[in-house]
Amino acid sequence: MGQSMITSTIPLDANGVHHGFLKLPYSRNDSAWGSVMIPITVVANGDGPTALLTGANHGDEYEGPIALQNLAASLDPATITGRVIILPMMNQPAFAAGTRCSPIDDANMNRSFPGKPDGTVTQKICHYVATELVPLADVVLDFHSGGRTLDFLPFAAAHILDDKTQEAACMAAMQAFNAPYSVRMLEIDNVGMFDTEVESQGKIFVTTELGGAGTATAKSVSIAVKGIQNLLIHTGILQGEMQISDSVQLDMPDDTCFVFARDAGLIEYLVDLGEPVAIDQPIARIWPADRTGVAPTICHAQRAGIMTARHVPGLVKMGDFVGLVAVPI
Ligand SMILES: [Zn+2]
Repeated sequence: MGQSMITSTIPLDANGVHHGFLKLPYSRNDSAWGSVMIPITVVANGDGPTALLTGANHGDEYEGPIALQNLAASLDPATITGRVIILPMMNQPAFAAGTRCSPIDDANMNRSFPGKPDGTVTQKICHYVATELVPLADVVLDFHSGGRTLDFLPFAAAHILDDKTQEAACMAAMQAFNAPYSVRMLEIDNVGMFDTEVESQGKIFVTTELGGAGTATAKSVSIAVKGIQNLLIHTGILQGEMQISDSVQLDMPDDTCFVFARDAGLIEYLVDLGEPVAIDQPIARIWPADRTGVAPTICHAQRAGIMTARHVPGLVKMGDFVGLVAVPI
């Protein structure tokens, strides 16, 4: 593997505020010597910890980009100790297209880490972030929400890790973020995730799922804004008092938390986000989309808990995710 083709138009280690781009040459039909330009802001002041804050890993999730645009426009270096590296649209091609995956190579960025310097556009971005930015960071916060096909209760999450010291630090950072829900998260498909790459470098990592359905709300953005502020205080980069409210603690012990569609059709939810469910309780039923007079397929919870995520919009395909039932601790 070689050197990254990506260059930063701003210094990553200079005091003050610098707004610029990560510039990736991308030759294509409409621009022979064109580039992908990924916005970046670095705010730094003296020696201290570094936080790397990323949004739009998936291009159709908006709390991160909005809250990080706010932060990039307002963070005063005089108020911090250390450095904050802000990438509101880490997956700029997907963000510009309003899609989860990149329209350039169809790649899902959060399954493409650690990337390759000589790979596709998405792999090149992943490689740069993994080899040039993550090593600078003490803490990494990667914003997600449900995008166009999922909706979530607003939560911050940390993963169960082999290194218990690192796990405790990640859990503490998740609690500092203080979303209305806090989840010890099990990933159903963790190979190639940014999370896994950051954790493998021994860093503190927090992720979120703050809503979804292809948009952001005033409430979900306010959770993101408060979470950033709290995390920067927790890390020692900002001074001040954290704003802490009650947070419902949820666990995802195993894959019985997940319910998937065994048929395609028109989905009727019987339980809404945040509502309790019992084991074997029907959480949704799927009506045929193309005929009448046929009984719906029932989707049952496989464990008791709280309805934490669901599919959007109204039609499902066979194999689609239907519901996440997480367990209150
Ligand atoms: Zn996402």
